[in-house]
Amino acid sequence: MPTVQVDLEERSYQVIVECGVLAEAGARLVAAGFHGKIAVVSDETVADLHGPPLLDSLTAAGLKPTLHTLPAGESSKSLGQTEEICRSMIRAGHDRKSFLVALGGGVTGDLAGFVAAIFYRGIPFAQIPTTIVSHVDSSVGGKTGVNVAEGKNLVGAFHQPRLVLVDPEVLHTLPAREFLEGFAEVIKHAAIRDAAMLDELAALDPTSRTVPADLIARNIAIKARIVEADELELTGQRALLNFGHTIGHGIEAAVPYGELLHGEAISLGLRAALYLSEKRAGLAPADSARILALLQHFQLPIVLPDEISTATILEKLGRDKKFESGKIRFVVLDAPGSARLSDDITPDDLREAIEHLRTIP
Ligand code: NAD
Ligand code: MG
Repeated sequence: MPTVQVDLEERSYQVIVECGVLAEAGARLVAAGFHGKIAVVSDETVADLHGPPLLDSLTAAGLKPTLHTLPAGESSKSLGQTEEICRSMIRAGHDRKSFLVALGGGVTGDLAGFVAAIFYRGIPFAQIPTTIVSHVDSSVGGKTGVNVAEGKNLVGAFHQPRLVLVDPEVLHTLPAREFLEGFAEVIKHAAIRDAAMLDELAALDPTSRTVPADLIARNIAIKARIVEADELELTGQRALLNFGHTIGHGIEAAVPYGELLHGEAISLGLRAALYLSEKRAGLAPADSARILALLQHFQLPIVLPDEISTATILEKLGRDKKFESGKIRFVVLDAPGSARLSDDITPDDLREAIEHLRTIP
């Protein structure tokens, strides 16, 4: 059973990656100190698919769960929905002695984690992620929060979970597109920290809906080591996780809502970042091509549709949190597995990289 330890002093916790762990969640949570009332927060889709075995397991372990659901989708990551869940929990009798369990993808995890951060000024919570993105990325690291009209993730809190339970079997019910988009973050992890993983990914069947537990655990470990080095994103190390995300976020913000999934926008952002890594950091063209081929292996987009204008993307980029006092901190690769921050990427470089995305490789 792969277990990843996240070492953050008194906020340390374990991530247990194991097929079938969802149905054993009750005992695992009790072992981690959870007791009494548990608010399970999930989106409606995931609650229908995976809620019953979780609730049964919690009850069997002597816990007292209540279920609180939100509509599936990014638009639920809002202050309004935060208030709804808090009020629903209060009406169900929860208070500062309660615990919270987030069951779902990154939307549920970010929102439920934020609720846990502020409910009665903060209660302990656990993550049970159900998408690839949430398995390898959002459930670990303690960033919680919601979106506002001005931008994504602009209101939130750092609140680390007490336990993360990752059950690879829940991925079987993911729609194909959501399964594939998750690999953008997996490929990102391999690119910045684990060149050997690139070959393993190339051997994975993208139609299988199956991801080996040890591969998920290695991805979590990559994120965990970076979070341990820079929990609050102060030293710049955590920013390495933004490889592909600067231009990716700009593209995501430039298209009408819902047309591109996050991973699909990040796939385009990764191609742009590979281009700039070749230009500014000496990344070998053959290595860049290998990573690009991997994005295609997982059917991720790498050519920018014409109707998305470069000017719009650049305008959206200017509002990105990664612009600090007008200067851009851009993540580049020197080689597969080796990423670093660069501050010599110019606005003209960005424009050129976006234009490059219009070419067919
Ligand atoms: P999501 O939570 O919206 O899930 C995607 C869709 O899949 C939803 O419709 C959901 O109902 C459905 N779904 C989830 N699990 C399923 C399953 N097992 N079977 C069938 N359907 C299932 O999206 P996501 O991609 O998991 O997460 C995206 C969010 O995560 C974004 O809001 C992003 O900002 C956030 N995020 C946060 C962090 C962080 O560090 N906190 C990191 C990365 C991403
Ligand atoms: Mg991302």
